[in-house]
Amino acid sequence: MTTQTGYETTRATLVLPEGGTRCLLHVCCAPCSGEVIEALVEADIECEVYFYNPNIQPREEYEVRKAENKAFADRYQVPFIDDDYDVEDWFKRTEGHEADPERGERCTLCFDMRLERAAFYAYTHGFDVLATSLSISRSKDIDQINGCGMRAVSKYPNLSYWTHNWRKKGGSQRMVSISRREGFYRQEYCGCLYSLRDTNQSRRARGIDRIQLPD
Ligand code: SF4
Repeated sequence: MTTQTGYETTRATLVLPEGGTRCLLHVCCAPCSGEVIEALVEADIECEVYFYNPNIQPREEYEVRKAENKAFADRYQVPFIDDDYDVEDWFKRTEGHEADPERGERCTLCFDMRLERAAFYAYTHGFDVLATSLSISRSKDIDQINGCGMRAVSKYPNLSYWTHNWRKKGGSQRMVSISRREGFYRQEYCGCLYSLRDTNQSRRARGIDRIQLPD
C-alpha cells in the first residue's frame, strides 16, 4: 500500500537469515529502533533488544536515551538487556581519531566496539542472528555498519549478521512517524563528545544556539 506522500506502508516480509530462529537486536536509541522493534514484533520473530552504547556522552544524555528505549521495548514486552557503560574503554579505543569526521575511521571503531560486544552476548546466550537499529538512519553509512556487523559475527559459529535494509518499504518514513507519534526525545547529535563538539561548531557557524543537554 502507498500513501498520498508516496511511501509504502506495508512492511517487507521478514525472514531471519540462514534459517535463524532467535534474533538479538542491538539498539542505539528509541527513534532508530522504534520501527525495527515494531517490525520484528509484527513478524512474530523471537527477539530481545540489547543496549550497549558507551559512545553516548555525557552520561545524562546516555541515561535519557536509554530510558526511552527501554520504555518502548517494555511496552511491546520485548526483553531489554542493559549492558555496561564502559566509556573509558570507548575513549581508549578511539584515541587518535578525535578529529575524524562523522562516517570516518572513528565511527568504524565505534561500531566495531558496540557490535563486537553484541555478537559476544548473542553467541553466549543462544541467539543465532544479530541485527542492529544503527543501519536504519539515513545519516549513517549502511555499508560501514554492515561491514562492522559481519566482522563482529565472523568469529562465532552459527551466528549470522542480518544485513536487512530497514530503510526500504517505507521504513525510513515509519521511523519518523513513530518518533512523532511517541514524542521521542529529540537527539541533536550522533552521540560522542566529538560529534557534540562538531555539531555545536556547525551550529555556531550558522548562528544557531548550542545544543541544550539534559540536566
Ligand atoms: S559520531 Fe557517532 S558513530 Fe561516530 S564515533 Fe561518534 S558516536 Fe560513534
